[in-house]
Amino acid sequence: MSRIVMKFGGTSVGSAERIRQAAGIVKQHWTAGCEVVVVVSALSQVTDLILKVLNASREGRAAEMEQGLRQLNLRHEEVLRGLFLKDGLESVSSQVKTSLQRLHDLCSAVLLLGSATPQVMDMALPLGEQVSAHIFAACLNQLGAAADFVDSSRVLITDDNFGDASPEMELTGRKCEQLILPLLQPHRIPVVMGYSGATVQGQVTTLGRGGSDYSGTILGAALDADEVWIWTDVDGVLTADPRICPDATTLPEIAFAEAVELSYYGAKVVHRKAIRPAMERGIPVWIKNSFKPEVAGTKIVPSLPESKRPVKAVTAVTNASLVTLTTRRDTHFAEIFGRLFLRLGHEHIDVLFSTQSSSEDSLGLVLREPDTERVVNAIRRLFRTELKHGVLNPVSVHENIAVIAVLGSGMKGTCGILGRLFSAVAGTNVSVIAVAQGASELNICFAVEASRANDVLRAVHAEFLSPGGSRPVARNS
Ligand code: ADP
Ligand code: ASP
Ligand code: MG
Repeated sequence: MSRIVMKFGGTSVGSAERIRQAAGIVKQHWTAGCEVVVVVSALSQVTDLILKVLNASREGRAAEMEQGLRQLNLRHEEVLRGLFLKDGLESVSSQVKTSLQRLHDLCSAVLLLGSATPQVMDMALPLGEQVSAHIFAACLNQLGAAADFVDSSRVLITDDNFGDASPEMELTGRKCEQLILPLLQPHRIPVVMGYSGATVQGQVTTLGRGGSDYSGTILGAALDADEVWIWTDVDGVLTADPRICPDATTLPEIAFAEAVELSYYGAKVVHRKAIRPAMERGIPVWIKNSFKPEVAGTKIVPSLPESKRPVKAVTAVTNASLVTLTTRRDTHFAEIFGRLFLRLGHEHIDVLFSTQSSSEDSLGLVLREPDTERVVNAIRRLFRTELKHGVLNPVSVHENIAVIAVLGSGMKGTCGILGRLFSAVAGTNVSVIAVAQGASELNICFAVEASRANDVLRAVHAEFLSPGGSRPVARNS
């Protein structure tokens, strides 16, 4: 009997009809004898709306806050009416009301205070998941599948990095043993809120936007699941975002290492940290389409035989910036850069890629936009003396750039990839701002103006990945 963690994303639970279909998928596998643990996201766009309401509260826009809260009530009421007849409606309705009332109370407090710490934001943001998990469990029960709502703050233990928390795997494992296994043994279906957890002290935390995928793999690892299935609105992992490259095709299988790179460099289909917990335990992750459950999807596996196609996918982080630090020639730049990287490590800042040029004694850091200000401030504090005495030139920041990542384990040892890549980019008349190729040769990253990112993505996809577009490759022996 296999144990499967199934995570349903926002569009897969976006309406009464979608929830009924998703619950039907769960019931089918549960009836066939599988142990199923469900992880749900909030209904599509609900977290965005909660965030908007919180920001309105923080900035004193009371009418906008009330309007947003009304919208949230109406959206959930409509789903409840579409799913439940009178007798089943009462208890789930009151659970939903309790969660939405809590959101109202928190927003009123934020409005009064005029500010909200990351900890307070994390108390409010997962309420969308609380509501959807209650509704999903009630829907399963209505279909005759025995399900229980599970509050993520009781089972998924994290550190206290509010807004971007990381799991404490050992503690989470113990909590799952105490609270989830006893539900699985009598063949019940735990329905866990995605996106969130809590510190050991019980303070609610979130795992970063899009974090329900991460909840799915964390719980999969903690429960020693046989597989994790991520149900979404596309057929699997595609060669590119189909919204940008409509001729993108589904990859039947990809390796964990490739999926890590793909998600890190912006492929929204999997949260950027979600692969790690599964990878560490060797648990296969499937990406499947809840609109088309009959389609196999993509299987993410520990390793794969060498592919004939050197490039597997192309993706982009569209909100990046380039921070450049240049030193005077007579300084030991290695020491300066060493101190800088140490600081970035302490502050948990991800550098998308970096370039270093000895001839110019310069270092370029390509960062996600939200990290840029923190890094610039850190540089100004750390090198106050060097900047004052001209040992370092003023920090320069190039905003609004996109990082395009070209990925595939088959690029290793394959000749001519860079030549083809940059000829394709040149064809779009876009100039490349910075380039890096990882030593593992798993990816090539380069930065361009964000406004042209989609043109570049399409050109690179056409060169390497469009059906019939890939040319034969030569391999180094
Ligand atoms: P969910 O709400 O199910 O978590 P998301 O919107 O977070 O879904 O992720 C799915 C979306 O990811 C797809 O609709 C697609 O537009 C986007 N996407 C970006 N890159 C890729 C890719 N390489 N393969 C598949 N989908 C991708
Ligand atoms: N609802 C959360 C978000 O929109 C988490 C998720 O959907 O994965 O970010
Ligand atoms: Mg998602």
